[in-house]
Amino acid sequence: MIIKDDEFGEVIVRKNPLSTGVKFSVSTSGRLSMSVPQHTSDFLVKRFLNRNREVIREKLPLSDPATQRARDAKKKILMKKAREYLPYRLEYWAKRYGYTYAKCRLTHANTRWGSCSSTRTISLNIGLMNVPEVLRDYVILHELAHLNHMDHSEAFWAEVGEHDSRYKDHRRRLKMFSPGV
Ligand SMILES: [Zn+2]
Repeated sequence: MIIKDDEFGEVIVRKNPLSTGVKFSVSTSGRLSMSVPQHTSDFLVKRFLNRNREVIREKLPLSDPATQRARDAKKKILMKKAREYLPYRLEYWAKRYGYTYAKCRLTHANTRWGSCSSTRTISLNIGLMNVPEVLRDYVILHELAHLNHMDHSEAFWAEVGEHDSRYKDHRRRLKMFSPGV
């Protein structure tokens, strides 16, 4: 099976009855292949890929410098946009609904849109600048609700729903985007 990945291009996936875990390798031509246990779903294959982007990237031969430069430049612009927007948007919603957080951190991890730590630091992915505003707001409201509920319990979702009544739809739509920059 071959899957198409935005960053790594065509990835060869081999389902192997003997393998117990997921392994990946890079051919001399630079193509990425993965060996996964026989019954691994496509969903899990993609999740593994998303969770290991950093590691995979280090193993891949450097892409041509122009591509690399273009990517770096894109990231820089996105970071600038994010810096001028996300902390203020977070502050806006926090004030509006009476939340207090310790600080806002901007990240460019490839796997998550945001997080909330037990020390009340809210991290937001700069890739949020590439998704529609309603989805951006959903992520912010989701992380703010974690200040009161550090889990995804019913009480947590009820709180998200109070501030974003269409959160189920937003959550579903967000899955069509990838946080990787
Ligand atoms: Zn959450």
